Amino acid sequence: MPSPLSRRNFLGATTLFATAIATGNKSAIAKLPRASLPNPTASLVTRWDTDRWSLGAYSALPVGATASVRKTLARAIINNRLVFAGEYTDPEYPATVQGALRSGQRAARTLIANGLGPKVIVIGAGMAGVSAAHDLAISGAQVVVVEARDRIGGRVHTNTSWGVSVEMGAAWVHALKTNPLVPLAQQAQLKLIPSDYDNKSFRDTKTGRPSPSAERASNQLVSLLSQLENSWPNPSTSVASWLRQHGLPANRFSTWAVETGVVQEYGLDATKLGARAPTEGSDFLGGDAFVAGGYQHIPELLATNLDIRLSSPVANVDASQPSGVYVRLESDAVLTADAVVMAVPVSLLQAQSPSITGLSKAIQAAIGGIATGNLEKVILRYDKQWWGQETVIGIVGGGLPAQSSNFAPNSALRWTEFYNVTDVVGAPTLVGFSGGSAARKRPKSDSACVAEALGMLQAAFR
Ligand SMILES: Cc1cc2nc3c(=O)[nH]c(=O)nc-3n(C[C@H](O)[C@H](O)[C@H](O)COP(=O)(O)OP(=O)(O)OC[C@H]3O[C@@H](n4cnc5c(N)ncnc54)[C@H](O)[C@@H]3O)c2cc1C
Repeated sequence: MPSPLSRRNFLGATTLFATAIATGNKSAIAKLPRASLPNPTASLVTRWDTDRWSLGAYSALPVGATASVRKTLARAIINNRLVFAGEYTDPEYPATVQGALRSGQRAARTLIANGLGPKVIVIGAGMAGVSAAHDLAISGAQVVVVEARDRIGGRVHTNTSWGVSVEMGAAWVHALKTNPLVPLAQQAQLKLIPSDYDNKSFRDTKTGRPSPSAERASNQLVSLLSQLENSWPNPSTSVASWLRQHGLPANRFSTWAVETGVVQEYGLDATKLGARAPTEGSDFLGGDAFVAGGYQHIPELLATNLDIRLSSPVANVDASQPSGVYVRLESDAVLTADAVVMAVPVSLLQAQSPSITGLSKAIQAAIGGIATGNLEKVILRYDKQWWGQETVIGIVGGGLPAQSSNFAPNSALRWTEFYNVTDVVGAPTLVGFSGGSAARKRPKSDSACVAEALGMLQAAFR
């Protein structure tokens, strides 16, 4: 997740132009009318929302919810057979890789402490699943991990198609002071590059120039959110209502600030995000760092020597039988064990993919009580870094002909913040973010997403 707020302490490009950029077709790019900014040489676009095995970016507390739903699921032991792991079950660091890692460790501890084994199936080889399997295997359990994809890591996914490591999912390690990922990153010989969120420029697509109004709106939002974090708001209030009641004005600069500082942080629109969301979890101490060299090497490190069955989606888990737990794959093969760690995203549990036989109404309600937000990236690679040395470039939309004047959730809210990841990737690269419903409504084609992102940059740097 990107973070202007210390990440929880955190034009019109033509279709030809867009297609050429998105496909990295250099000869097509060379024939394009000269744009005021250099053209990227390649691009990548993420699609976590329609990815069958994630169905969104990460969990968030919607209006009406409190962190107790996470605790309920973290403590649950279904029929002495099944425990849950996953970022959504970690009340201290939810929605993060760190939370996923901790949740897997907690699930393993629960099985070991209750003598639930020795044969264990772990469903899902994301950070939560491999962390549970790693600890269980060390304790002497016989562990099999079943994973739907043809790779491990889940929402930690490093793309190497450019010959360098580019993060499609998680990119940061947060809260460096206490994060157990730090020693793992060192062990995997990865470099951690601290993020200086204060090294930021604010620009406006209406003027093509720096925007002091955006900077003021951002500062006001940061101050209001820190007030909110230290309060005990009514869970039935949304973050949007709370901010309005506490003086955030309704103008395009505040709308932009909320989009980058709230929506792209939590993945949910501020009208849907519960006011308790910013209050949950531990303080993130020690700042954040980008992982350089391939985040995926961390889950791979934990997965060393584990028995992992890739491309094996699970259709159903029956935890209601006294004789054992039965895991049926989509291929109809059935695996049996003494216990199961269910480490798939909460969005998948809600979609009953897999379904679970033997859940109480209370557990079903807790699963239904957590929302999944959206965060998507457009990643642009250039020959040369043309944008200065800032870490973050905030861009207020609304200045492009295609963007509606009323600044409703539309293209004006997408690609409103870019991160300079040249040092991290080892090549001149910008990553643009879009979150919440604006991300969900983005164009279907990657080339059109790239065109939108380039349009924002071109309008902001006229
Ligand atoms: C764009 C984006 C940016 C992010 N940025 C950051 C960041 O900078 N820092 C940070 O800390 N966090 C970030 N996160 C969040 C972080 O990636 C997740 O919180 C974390 O990786 C979740 O791990 P997990 O093990 O709980 O779930 P996952 O990684 O989703 O693992 C679950 C696994 O279960 C598998 N699965 C699903 N269904 C089935 C099935 N039926 N049968 C078998 N297997 C199945 C999936 O394929 C997957 O491998 C980001 C996420 C996204 C999407």
